[in-house]
This record gives sequence, structure tokens and C-alpha cells, in this order.
Amino acid sequence: MSEQPKTYRPATFTAQALGWVDEATRSVTPPIYPSTTFERNADLSYHDGRCYSRADNPTYDQACAVLNALEGGEDTRLFASGMAAAVAVLRSLEPGDHVIAPKVMYWSLRGFMLDSGVRAGLTFDFVDNGDCQSWISALKPGKTRLVWIETPSNPDWQITDIAAVADAAHQAGAIVAVDNTVATPLLTRPIELGADIVMHSATKYLNGHSDVLAGSLTTARKDPFWDRVCVQHKGGGAVLGVFETWLLLRGMRTLSIRVEKCCTNAMAIAQHFEHHPDIVQVQYPGLASHVGHDIAKRQMTGGFGGMLSLRVKGGRDRAVAFHNACNLFKRATSLGGVEGLIEHRASVEGPDSPVPDDLLRLSVGIEDIDDLISDLESALASSK
Ligand SMILES: *Cc1c(COP(=O)(O)O)cnc(C)c1O
Repeated sequence: MSEQPKTYRPATFTAQALGWVDEATRSVTPPIYPSTTFERNADLSYHDGRCYSRADNPTYDQACAVLNALEGGEDTRLFASGMAAAVAVLRSLEPGDHVIAPKVMYWSLRGFMLDSGVRAGLTFDFVDNGDCQSWISALKPGKTRLVWIETPSNPDWQITDIAAVADAAHQAGAIVAVDNTVATPLLTRPIELGADIVMHSATKYLNGHSDVLAGSLTTARKDPFWDRVCVQHKGGGAVLGVFETWLLLRGMRTLSIRVEKCCTNAMAIAQHFEHHPDIVQVQYPGLASHVGHDIAKRQMTGGFGGMLSLRVKGGRDRAVAFHNACNLFKRATSLGGVEGLIEHRASVEGPDSPVPDDLLRLSVGIEDIDDLISDLESALASSK
């Protein structure tokens, strides 16, 4: 397949999936190669170096190249889910290694760290996402091997200063990984800010249609740690199926218009409800009232994301009634699709959750903004 020069901007090269055209047929979308195995040459070498599908399938090439270009990385691997991608990083550590992660982060990954991570001999400190000093004081030079950042973090959308934390982490000899699922590489480019590895739940904005489960890791450079991650990918077998890979590439082609629309819709909802008498607090990094707004302004370009949380006056019962009264916003977990979703987060996370009971998490879709706001307004009014 032929490839475009790398001078185009993200909206251009994602729309064209780097401009690749299939050489055999001139098709502008790529074929899917379901084959799990590849014929060997008589001299025992492999055509194209491809042997067996677990990591060698050509269907991966274009999707990996697009994501790699978006993140400005050196290599990208696709995984069966975001969790599989994150776990591949954790499994590349050694027993005894110390890991720093945020107190508020993707709940299932925190659960995995505290369960399987601890059983694998890792030690953890959980710090205040938005407080740079909290990260720096948790660093144990020579012992901290991984610093795991999630920004904006789920579900209060706090902002971690990637550049400042990465700088301190590197001085202490640690690797910095960033879960960039919520920001997307269009709004935040962690590698440019000093991160070593970027992780995505590609299930969310990258695919964007709530119909593919996928994950990814992108590395700033191919080094011995990345080699270990690749062993987890190929040897651990948590690879993405080729049909899902094809759908993911199709989804990524519209990433820029989807993210742009989600951002403007989310900002409009945040501003509309910020001083609403029935809303205690709107948590959105695009608002000047948000604790992380100043860092977000520096670190995010082109928008503040499509995720926000509303804390409703009247506590848990009112919050649940409000979300039950929504019509357009669907009651469902997950995020980053084209449709608006609303979720009572505390009851999803369970009794140990730090999330307040009156909080509703919104994944704002690409619908008409007036319809979205009137759906929330009338649901709020009818839940009184
Ligand atoms: C969904 C999500 C994950 C986990 O990804 P899966 O694709 O569901 O395995 C990790 N981090 C964040 C921020 C997420 O939203």
C-alpha cells in the first residue's frame, strides 16, 4: 500500500487514514486479512517477515500507523481491550517495583492494580491527581518504576500536569505512562509532554461508535521496556481481532469531527448548568471554576473533551430520578460514542467508591445541542 508524506495535520491524515491505497486493487479502504498463517518461502524465510497472525497480521498495519502518527510515537500495538493494554504494561514490571497512580482513575484498572498487581509483588501509592507535589513526594528514586497518569480523570475530570510529573518521574528513574482515553491525541499529546507510553481504551473515542472493544499502547521509543511490553502483547496473546481492527480504523477516520462536536456540546452543557439552581456543581475542565482549568488550558489544545459530571441538588435519590427522566441521554456506562450517555457512577463502582452519590457522569454525543440541553432541563424539572 502507498503512503502519504507525514506533513499533513491530524484531521487530514486521520480522515484519509494516511492516504493509503491498496496497490493490488486501488481500493481506498483496506482489505481485511482473516488468515491466521502465512506461507513460508523455500529458504525458510517469511515473505514480509509475517509468520503467524498473533501479531503479524497486515490488517493491523494501517490502524497502528494512524494511531502512531496521532500520538507522535515510534511504535503502536493494538490490544483486545483497553484493560488488556494497561495490564500488559503492569505485567512488564518486576516483583518489588513501586507504582504511582492517581486516587481517582478508571475504577476497574485501580481494582486490578490492588488485586492482581499486589499479588504479582508490585507496590502502589495513590496520589492526588491535580496536585503536582503529591506525585513528586510519592516518588521513591530507584524503586518507583512506573508512574501511571490518567488525565482528565474519571469521573471528576481532574487534570494532571503531564510535563511536570514526567520530568520529576524521569529524574527518579521511572517510566511514565498516560491513559489518554478521555482526551484523545487530538486534545493532548502525552509523548510531546514527556510521556514514555500512551494507552487508550480504543473502545471509546478512537472507535467512537460503541461497537468495538479495543485497546492500544504507543511508545515514544523502542527500548528494552517496550520489548517486554511486546512480549506481553504477542506472547500474552491479548491481541485485537482483524474485523475489530478494520472497524477501529473506519471509526478513527471521523475522529476529528466527532471530538470537535463532543467538545463544543460538552462546553455548552457545562456553561448552561454551571449556575443552575438545581445543580450543586458542574465538573468540567473547560470551566474557569474547575480546579484543573489552568493546566488544562496549557496542556489541552482544541477543546476540553466530551466528558463532564453534574452534581445534583437533592442527593442520590434526585440524581437517580433525574437520570431516569432523561430520554435522549441513555442510561449506560462507557463513553466516547456518538450518542449521549448518562450514568450514576457511584452505584456502578460499588460501596468502596469515592464518587459522591449525587454525581451523574455524562458522555456527551454529537447530537443537536438544543435537544441535549432541553432533555437535561426537562429531566431535571420532572425529578423535583
Ligand atoms: C474504558 C476505559 C478503560 C478500559 O478500557 P476497556 O476497553 O473497557 O477495556 C481504561 N481507561 C479509561 C479512562 C476508560 O474509559
